[in-house]
Amino acid sequence: MSLKIILIILIACPLALTGRKWTYNGLDGEHDWPTNYPFCGGAFQSPIDFQTHLLRYDPNLPPIQVQNYNLSTSEQLTLGNNGHSVQLSLPSHMYISSLPHRYSAAQLHFHWGSSNLLTGSEHTVNGKQFAGEMHVVHFNSDKYPNVSMAVDKHDGLAVLGVFIEIGEANPAFDKLFRFISGVKYRDQKIQVPAFNIRALLPDRLDQYYRYDGSLTTPPCYPSVLWTVFRKPVTISRKQFLALATALYASFAQDSPSMPLHENYRKSQLPDNRVVLVSFREELLHHNICLSGDFTWMSWGIIASITAASMLGLLMIITLVWCILRKRSYTEEQEEKNNGCKLSEKEEHIS
Ligand SMILES: [Zn+2]
Repeated sequence: MSLKIILIILIACPLALTGRKWTYNGLDGEHDWPTNYPFCGGAFQSPIDFQTHLLRYDPNLPPIQVQNYNLSTSEQLTLGNNGHSVQLSLPSHMYISSLPHRYSAAQLHFHWGSSNLLTGSEHTVNGKQFAGEMHVVHFNSDKYPNVSMAVDKHDGLAVLGVFIEIGEANPAFDKLFRFISGVKYRDQKIQVPAFNIRALLPDRLDQYYRYDGSLTTPPCYPSVLWTVFRKPVTISRKQFLALATALYASFAQDSPSMPLHENYRKSQLPDNRVVLVSFREELLHHNICLSGDFTWMSWGIIASITAASMLGLLMIITLVWCILRKRSYTEEQEEKNNGCKLSEKEEHIS
């Protein structure tokens, strides 16, 4: 095929490069994703709702360790609008070192609600949806040369998920949000100075949810080892609005413009999956004090503890009684024996 023909095909069929069109609502919304992307209708999809009954404590889950996240400002990163999110490219010398393979960074991006909807996270906790969610995407660089080769492999990707809620302003996010107006429309890209990406993560990297899932956008490959941190980061309402109101899902020349917001996928089925968690005390506390009300389970736990304590006390009392009884019996026997020996001795002397 000549170069001319290939160029004609690519110009005439932009979808050959970018894949089939998909959106978060309307005719091409998520109900329609499986039509062109069959994995989206398959198993082990993400996101999911972290319901307490799906969680299992795993004492072998180590704290997440990230390396080279503190990037020099002399390094340049590409910030882009792909029509579905705002995305920052990341250099592959950033990596996660606490997983069975080395997972090198590729990009980070966001999911959010809208100015009227402060609920736009993809993962949820017992149905609670946070204002937004950041995904830091890494690929298995021990096994694959780049993210494109890894994206459809079962052990290809590891994504760090960070819940975002409205609260204190976080200056680290301004290092990214201040450039958002430069990528208002789809396919726009600019270069921005790098910064400390670690500052976008929560303080604690030792408390997280871990499960096997998928990309949350088409083609929805089930290739992601998910780590979603338990504690959210906070950004101010002003920062959230900078993210939620500045961008368009449409190209600059399109009319009317389509706002880019509410770009989150709804919860998927658990499919018999277990979600491992690296934290325990809070989990037990949650089971006992679910929404401040005692449940039948917590009454059962209290009854079991009380019965076990009473049984233990009874055993101790019995043990003490036996020892005392034995000691008094021994003393009685000794007294008797002494009496006998004395009389024997007396007999012998006489
Ligand atoms: Zn994402």
